[in-house]
Amino acid sequence: MEWETVIGLEVHAQLQTKSKAFSGAATKYGAEPNTQACAVDIALPGVLPVFNKEAARMAVKFGLAIGAAINHRSVFARKNYFYPDLPKGYQISQYELPIVAKGQITIDLDGVEKTIGITRAHLEEDAGKSLHEDFHGMTGIDLNRAGTPLLEIVSEPDMRSAKEAVAYLKKIHELVRYLEICDGNMQEGSFRCDANVSVRPKGEKKFGTRAELKNINSFRFVEKAIEFEVERQIDLIEGGGKVAQETRLYDSDQDVTRSMRSKEEAMDYRYFPDPDLPPLVITEDFIRGVEKTLPELPDAKRARFMKDYGLTAYDAGVLTASRELADYYEQLVRASGSDPKIAANWVTGELAAFLNRDNKDISASPVTVSMMTGLLKRLADNTISGKIAKEVFEAMWNGEGDADAVIAKKGLKQITDTGAIEKVIEEIVAKNPKQLEQYRAGKETLFGYFVGQVMKATQGKANPAQVNELLKKKLSA
Ligand code: ADP
Ligand code: MG
Repeated sequence: MEWETVIGLEVHAQLQTKSKAFSGAATKYGAEPNTQACAVDIALPGVLPVFNKEAARMAVKFGLAIGAAINHRSVFARKNYFYPDLPKGYQISQYELPIVAKGQITIDLDGVEKTIGITRAHLEEDAGKSLHEDFHGMTGIDLNRAGTPLLEIVSEPDMRSAKEAVAYLKKIHELVRYLEICDGNMQEGSFRCDANVSVRPKGEKKFGTRAELKNINSFRFVEKAIEFEVERQIDLIEGGGKVAQETRLYDSDQDVTRSMRSKEEAMDYRYFPDPDLPPLVITEDFIRGVEKTLPELPDAKRARFMKDYGLTAYDAGVLTASRELADYYEQLVRASGSDPKIAANWVTGELAAFLNRDNKDISASPVTVSMMTGLLKRLADNTISGKIAKEVFEAMWNGEGDADAVIAKKGLKQITDTGAIEKVIEEIVAKNPKQLEQYRAGKETLFGYFVGQVMKATQGKANPAQVNELLKKKLSA
C-alpha cells in the first residue's frame, strides 16, 4: 500500500520586545534565574496584566508580511492547565479570535514552488522553565521566561513530506528575522516548533489521526523526527494497530519519538476570555503605520537580486538568506564597482566559508565591506591574481590589515612586466631540457608542468594569463 504523509506545523516565535507581554519585567536571555520575574509573572494575588503594545505591532507586521487579514478585534483567553512552571495555573493566549487571520507563504523545493496556508497567528505568553539537572533529586523553576510574548503561527495541514516541513520552517524563520520581530535563536528556544504528523492511504480524502511531536530544536531534527514518526505510524497501521492522538517527544540522542501524554482536546483547557484584559482593538491607522515599517521581504529581494545583478537563483538565495548578508553584498557591489557576479562569488565562496569555519555571523566578520572592497579593487586592476587574492583575504581575516597593507607587507604585487616573466621562463626552460623535448615531441600535458614551475619560481605572483601566453610562444619556438 502507498502512504501519504500529512504535516501541519505550530511555530512559536518569541517576540523580541524589551519587556514582557503583560508586565514590565525584562525579557533578556541568560539572566540569573528568577531575577526577571516580577509580581505579575509569578502570579501574586491581586496583580493585573497590562498588555505590551509592541507585541501587537510585531504580530501585525508578521500578518501583513504573509498577506493575512488583521482582526480589528481580538480576544485574550485563559488556557487552563497545571504545571510547575506556570504559576497562574493558566496561560494567557488567544483562542477564538486571534490577532492574525488566514495567510500564506510560498516554499521552494528544488525549483518547485508550493503555497502553504497559514491558518492563524496568535499572541500568547511563554511559561517558565523547569530545571531538572541542577539540583539533585529536585526540580528548579526559573520564571525569567514566564510572560515573554510569543507569536504562535499555525499552518494548515498542507505539507506532504519532512522536506516540505523543513522548507516551510526555514521560510518562517527567515521571515521573522527579516521583520526583526524574533531573533530566531533555536538553541535558546526563541524559535520552536511542534510538528503534527499523520499518514493516510494515497488517494484517501480523510486525514489520519495525528501525533504531535514536541521538543524539536533544530531544522535537522524536524526532518529526522518526522521521518521516524511517519515510519512508526505506517508500521503500526500495517501491523493492524491504530495511531493514537497523542503528544510525543523527540529524543535526538536515540533518534526516536516517545509517547509523552495523550493529547488534550481543546475542551480540556477550559478556554474562556480573560476577564482582566479588554479585547485587543487594532485600528486601521495602526495597521497602516506598521505597514510603513515593512522592509523589502526575502522573496522580493531574491527576485531583485536575480534581475539587477544577473545572479542565479541559487546565489540570490544564499545572499538573501539574511538581511545583514544581503546588505553586505549590496554595499560591496556599490562600493567596489566590481562585476556583481565576481562580488557574489567572493561573498558566497571565501567569506561564507570563513564565517562558517569560525562559526561567525556576518555582522561579526573581521573582513568588513570596506576591506572586501579594497580587495576586489586590487583584483580588478590586476595588482593581484585570483589565487593571491585568497591569500590576502585570509591575512585580512587574521587581522593583518586591509588589502593594500597586506599586499605591500607581504610583497604580493602581481608581476605583469613581460620582460621579467620572460626571464623566469628562460630559466625554467633551460633547467628542464628533457621535459622540453617531450613537450615538443607531442606530450602536451607537460604545458601545465611548465606553468607550475613558473608560478612556483615567482611565488604565485606572475600574472597567469601572461605566463600562459609567453610560455606558449617560448615552448613552440
Ligand atoms: P492543537 O492546539 O490541538 O495542537 P491546533 O489547531 O492549534 O491544535 O493545531 C493543529 C495543527 O495540526 C495545525 O498545524 C494543523 O495543520 C495540524 N493538523 C491538524 N490535523 C492534522 C492531521 N490529521 N495530520 C497532520 N496535521 C494535522
Ligand atoms: Mg498543538
